[in-house]
Amino acid sequence: MSAHILLVEDSPTQAQQVGLLLESAGYEVSVASTGDEALEMIQELGPDLVILDVILPDMDGYTVCRRIRKQVLSYIPVLMLTQRADVEDRVDGLEVGADDYLAKPFDEREFLARVAALLRIKQLQDELQHRLQNERRAYESLRQIALTDSLTKLYNRHHFAEMLQREFDTAQRYGTPLACIMIDIDHFRHFNNRYGHAIGDWVLQGVAQLLMENVRRVDVVARYGGEEFVILLPMSNLTAATETATRLRQLVENQRWGSPAGPLKITISLGVAAFPEAAVDRAEDLVDYADQALLRAKANGRNRVEKWGVERGKEDP
Ligand code: GH3
Ligand code: MG
Ligand code: MG
Ligand code: MG
Repeated sequence: MSAHILLVEDSPTQAQQVGLLLESAGYEVSVASTGDEALEMIQELGPDLVILDVILPDMDGYTVCRRIRKQVLSYIPVLMLTQRADVEDRVDGLEVGADDYLAKPFDEREFLARVAALLRIKQLQDELQHRLQNERRAYESLRQIALTDSLTKLYNRHHFAEMLQREFDTAQRYGTPLACIMIDIDHFRHFNNRYGHAIGDWVLQGVAQLLMENVRRVDVVARYGGEEFVILLPMSNLTAATETATRLRQLVENQRWGSPAGPLKITISLGVAAFPEAAVDRAEDLVDYADQALLRAKANGRNRVEKWGVERGKEDP
């Protein structure tokens, strides 16, 4: 594919002359005759090089060049052409961001050599951009893999620990609430034993998805271990988080789980802890307390919610 050059030249004769020269060298050429037209065409066409006459009817070439640098984010080389070429003109041109400068009348071979050099730089720039973009994409997908659990697509425990620390620091610093819900599927072993591991996995994915879809966007849901999940709820106190936990418990219980092996009955047990209701020194304490509440939910019969710090048997909405 031949390079595309935008020639900005108000004199039709000069435009034709330079245009023909460039076309005979194998380039595709578009012509703009004012600064405004040039800026529009750059956005529209995305040329590989702009050849810019300094004297134009609406604004001078320096202004056009400055605007190109301000408005166009990707790199476009600019070659400035003018009648005069004293040192000051050259410096002015380079200062507004032109890449090269040539006085008219110019030697055709020198002109074409400069055009070719600028296009080479542009090509290298494009390749570099392309490579950077690919690397960024590869990095993003690796990061995604590192942060998530492949079965459920939830965050993994490692990433959860990082988020926990960050949210905990914020909560401590500003005195804002922070809650944690620990969740464990009841008698999960039963699904594996009775229907096989694949159905067990299916249950895990289903519960994960249901949790994900029924919390706020700011809440962080993660897979904590085998059939255990954890949710971090910024700006939620113990009461609010317990309401959420109760809602999730009911959703799981009432959902009609039509698995490939037939209808299943699934329930979960949940433990809730929150700052500032619980005095928490370290981020991990919050998870610990939620875990203790979860153990109580199991001991008290499963398919229930327990709050940290509340006596056994007294609470279950
Ligand atoms: P409880 O109500 O006390 O929680 O009973 P439970 O059977 O759920 O608890 P237990 O901890 O005894 O069993 C958890 C089981 O989860 C054991 C393990 O084989 C299974 N498990 C852990 N990770 C996975 C997984 O990724 N896929 C499947 N299919 N099973 C898993
Ligand atoms: Mg002119
Ligand atoms: Mg468990
Ligand atoms: Mg379990």
